Amino acid sequence: SEEQLRQSQKMEAVGQLAGGVAHDFNNILQVIEGYCSLLQTDRTLNQDQQAKVAEVIASAERAAQLTRGLLAYSRKQAMIMKREDLIEVIQQVHRFLSRIIGEDITFHSESVASELPVHADRGQIEQVLINLATNARDAMPSGGVFSVRSERVVLDDCFVDFHQHNVQPGTYALLTVSDTGAGIKKEHLEHIFEPFFTTKEVGKGTGLGMAIVYGIVKQHNGFINVYSEPGEGTTYRIYLPILDAGGNPLVEKSEVVSPQRG
Ligand code: ADP
Repeated sequence: SEEQLRQSQKMEAVGQLAGGVAHDFNNILQVIEGYCSLLQTDRTLNQDQQAKVAEVIASAERAAQLTRGLLAYSRKQAMIMKREDLIEVIQQVHRFLSRIIGEDITFHSESVASELPVHADRGQIEQVLINLATNARDAMPSGGVFSVRSERVVLDDCFVDFHQHNVQPGTYALLTVSDTGAGIKKEHLEHIFEPFFTTKEVGKGTGLGMAIVYGIVKQHNGFINVYSEPGEGTTYRIYLPILDAGGNPLVEKSEVVSPQRG
């Protein structure tokens, strides 16, 4: 649709600009951090001055975090696509995700299939899960449930035409990531994949996490849907084409099972 086109053009432009600037900017930040660290060891500084230097370092660190995000967002050429088992990728990043969500949140992980071969960059899929887990954690400050589920689904023309444009019918690996957190307001929902859209306080969010997720999923020839109910939680569904034994996307016309919406 026109809206989708406008969105992807905007993201493309931001990505190019970001990639060009972020690298140099990171170098500048390193100089700032370096000199501040040196200054911190200066014994002639009083406590107040020390505190101010620490504040500069903290800000530089936040800026570095933002530029790392920008670099990740614009890093399109660095993809290494291989045949990967999605279930294995999820298992490998499980421990790291547990660490992100912390002890107050219950982590459910489940796979309904024995194998989900996809054409993917392992690191990028891990990045998707990390960004989703980070948002889930932020949405559940007083605990809740974070769940990751993977399965195999067949999407027919009906599903495709009805819900999504530019999507081929076929067999997909469906990755469902959900939380029981704050949810997303209706008026925010259409903006969450835009770069720099954030509802988090300054220094806490960069607004790049979901834009990165969107970009990675698109590069994997997949698509992502979000369902959210304020006060109830959020569910992301990511569809990636499944590979057949020959490494081609699997297209099945028979035995159609479209997943439920909602
Ligand atoms: P950031 O996390 O830095 O704000 P993101 O691009 O990752 O940037 O997310 C954009 C916004 O989308 C968040 O600020 C938040 O408002 C909303 N959001 C994304 N995921 C969730 C979620 N699981 N629960 C609630 N809000 C979410």
